[in-house]
Amino acid sequence: MPSPPAPRLRADVSGLPRYVPGRTAPSDRVAKLSSNENPYPPLPSVVAAMREELGRVNRYPDSRSSELVTELSAALAVPPEHLAPGTGSLGVTKDLVCAAAGEGDEVLFAWRSFEAYPMLVWAAGATPVQVPLRDERHDLEAMAEAVTDRTRLIIVCNPNNPTGTAVRRGELERFLDRLPGHVLVVLDEAYREFVDDTDVPDGIELYRDRPNVAVLRTFSKAYGLARLRVGYAVAHPPVTAALRACTVPFGVSGLAQAAAQASLRARPELLERVRTLVAERARVTRALRAAGWSVPASQANFVWLRLGTHTSAFAGACEAAGVMVRPFGDEGVRITIGTPEQNDNLLKIAGDWRA
Ligand SMILES: *Cc1c(COP(=O)(O)O)cnc(C)c1O
Repeated sequence: MPSPPAPRLRADVSGLPRYVPGRTAPSDRVAKLSSNENPYPPLPSVVAAMREELGRVNRYPDSRSSELVTELSAALAVPPEHLAPGTGSLGVTKDLVCAAAGEGDEVLFAWRSFEAYPMLVWAAGATPVQVPLRDERHDLEAMAEAVTDRTRLIIVCNPNNPTGTAVRRGELERFLDRLPGHVLVVLDEAYREFVDDTDVPDGIELYRDRPNVAVLRTFSKAYGLARLRVGYAVAHPPVTAALRACTVPFGVSGLAQAAAQASLRARPELLERVRTLVAERARVTRALRAAGWSVPASQANFVWLRLGTHTSAFAGACEAAGVMVRPFGDEGVRITIGTPEQNDNLLKIAGDWRA
């Protein structure tokens, strides 16, 4: 019998890049410092809010996340219509690309940056344009020069994943001022809460009088809700309306909405944990540098080691010693800041490696 015909899919889909997630830890004894997760479990108040939601899962969630939007609006001092929640900031990024760019359009971002950008752009049928980092930082000059008539969207990952480096207020403002107003600029601030350098601008200040700027935030990292999938965009109403048009209805689950609201209420406690991680970041950076490593100044919850061709050997040595880090090809490894004990283990491995 002849085999039945295969379904006719989009011709370019089979060749699209795939997201390579950090592997699952093989056991609880392995420290997973490979996915930029928050090492602390959810607070009891957040667990209680989710537990209350469990009895309602037969009902669809509020598609607009109205209560969450109201609370975010108060917390960030932005109008509710400037907020668009989604299934993690990844979900919102996908919606943004869909809203701004289609076939023949270009989406510009630095490289190396967040691994998910190329695939989300290709999936929309648009073309990624990747501008190399310079000294591990965004090269905003080169990015401005790479803008063409086809550029529809520019993503600035600040601080940048995986290098941890951040762009400064002056250079970012000059960059924004130079761009044509019809190009949408997304400031991906997934790690905003970990920023302690006052020269690094808060996107929410920058977007206010710039209709072409959108800011992305998430509950996954600082707030420790990575598994629930909730993030949001802050932007002016034409952009948020387009996002609502492009998003999957009911995407943000009731559990995610309840946990995000409870997390906003527990903000002081959660930000205290963030301060601990920021202090650990400083300690890890100092110790690595003292051991002879070159470590770019990180404003996120991870550090970057450029290891070149030694990347996979180093990642293997870490794993053999019970610590998972994230290797990127022949470029380097990204190491998430964990608990003090996990960081101590990492420092021991990194120290031995150089000895
Ligand atoms: C982790 C990360 C995200 C993804 O966040 P979710 O809200 O979990 O989808 C987005 N952008 C960057 C740069 C990240 O590192």
